[in-house]
Amino acid sequence: MRSPEDHPPAAGCTRRGIFGIAAALMGGALSIGAAPCVTSRSDNDSCTRDYDAAFESALAAADARIPQNADYITRAAIPKVFAMPLRRGYRVTARYGQPGNWLAGHHTGIDLAVPRGTPVYAVAAGTVVLAQWSGAYGKAVTIRLRDGHYALYGHLNHIRTRPGSSIATGARIADSGSTGRATGPHLHLEIRSKRPYGSDVDPVAYLARHGVRLL
Ligand SMILES: [Zn+2]
Repeated sequence: MRSPEDHPPAAGCTRRGIFGIAAALMGGALSIGAAPCVTSRSDNDSCTRDYDAAFESALAAADARIPQNADYITRAAIPKVFAMPLRRGYRVTARYGQPGNWLAGHHTGIDLAVPRGTPVYAVAAGTVVLAQWSGAYGKAVTIRLRDGHYALYGHLNHIRTRPGSSIATGARIADSGSTGRATGPHLHLEIRSKRPYGSDVDPVAYLARHGVRLL
């Protein structure tokens, strides 16, 4: 254990961030002990809140409107692959599950810091449920995936899709930004096993199961 005196947060953040990326590139075996930069400092481009009652109720209403079988119509035509949400380098500024002031008691997604305007791509095929201003999430896109999970992309600068659209893996759905409750530009990527807030799963583990490595 290091004491705060010999491990100041800002400097430690930078060193650990670089080491974490290097460890990930070397094969990930060290990734648990060498986490990327994940402090919750307010200047560290991440979310300050991720629950918004108005958003959750809009999502529930939209989800009920869009037929559950809409996702499956073109199933055979869409390759069963997953993709990275970003195609340029990013910094992890808040990990999934990190304890904090979020309603769930932990961070429900992963924060990937990138400059405003960075293209955001669908990690998997599905149907857009909601694509609009979403309170704490700012401009956000929520996609129902074919396995019943939901992928939520938050704090976007610009949305490039609309509700009801069938989305292919890797399709550009938005440009990143810092709208809503965010301290700086980043993509908040959240994966829910069901629609309601609190059913979040670890996006890193979920994508890894489908062959995509975020870290
Ligand atoms: Zn976040």
